[in-house]
Amino acid sequence: MTAEPSAEPSAGGAGAANSAGSPAGVPVAAPRHDDSLTTENQARAALIDTCRELNARGINQGKAGNASLRWDRGGAAGLLVTPSALPYARMRPDDIVWLSLQTRTQADSQTDSQTGGAPPTVPAVIDSNGRRPSSEWRIHRDIYAARPDAAAVVHAHPPHATALACLASVQAAGIPAFHYMVAMAGGNDIRCAGYATFGTQALSDTALAALAGRRACLMAHHGIVALGASLESALALAEEVESLSRMYHLACQLGVPPVLGDDEMARVLVLFADYRPDQAAAPG
Ligand SMILES: [Zn+2]
Repeated sequence: MTAEPSAEPSAGGAGAANSAGSPAGVPVAAPRHDDSLTTENQARAALIDTCRELNARGINQGKAGNASLRWDRGGAAGLLVTPSALPYARMRPDDIVWLSLQTRTQADSQTDSQTGGAPPTVPAVIDSNGRRPSSEWRIHRDIYAARPDAAAVVHAHPPHATALACLASVQAAGIPAFHYMVAMAGGNDIRCAGYATFGTQALSDTALAALAGRRACLMAHHGIVALGASLESALALAEEVESLSRMYHLACQLGVPPVLGDDEMARVLVLFADYRPDQAAAPG
């Protein structure tokens, strides 16, 4: 791990509560960085590879979805995120956008009722290359601000997981522990964040709440978000959530699958922490 001690995990007042659950005054862990990447150009290229991989593995289609990496510049805590509205096939490293974790817009300081719930029409940031960050940059920014365990974040619209996220029953209860691999998301279920318009602070807030103590969640009528200690682990988790969603869908076609008990899932979580420390459950 190459976490930079100068970076504060909640620097920037991103507006989201620290859902990692540390009481005020208690130091939280230093933010994680993907230690497989040493230069910003490498990081930019890795983000593009991840997005192409999302499409190649059927987790995403077209221009939907986005990915990011925690990436500080000097003493400034920030992230690299894929740009808005650019096909992955045409994306080049220079197209990736760097944002400070302090990035806010005028719209961020307004409530959704003041903006009519609509995403801001003015882009939050245009970098020196004239690129706008993904419309969901707030989700990425807020996860890094609140979750020191997150070094990479993937957002996608995979068909099976998104289909489940369109059902009222799944929106209410998430995907239960019908299979032990549900623990890969960090707990005994995979929650579904409530619906909010794409690109809004409200959507980021509801996603962050659903991720408390978890590394992945569904998003009602939208898709999924997954985080990890590296791009590879975030991508693998997104793929796992889609695979589990497909299995859950199939099982529900055949009957009502019973769920594993909390004791068994607690046992699995302990085993996962041993087997894949970078995939251990987040605090909170
Ligand atoms: Zn989306």
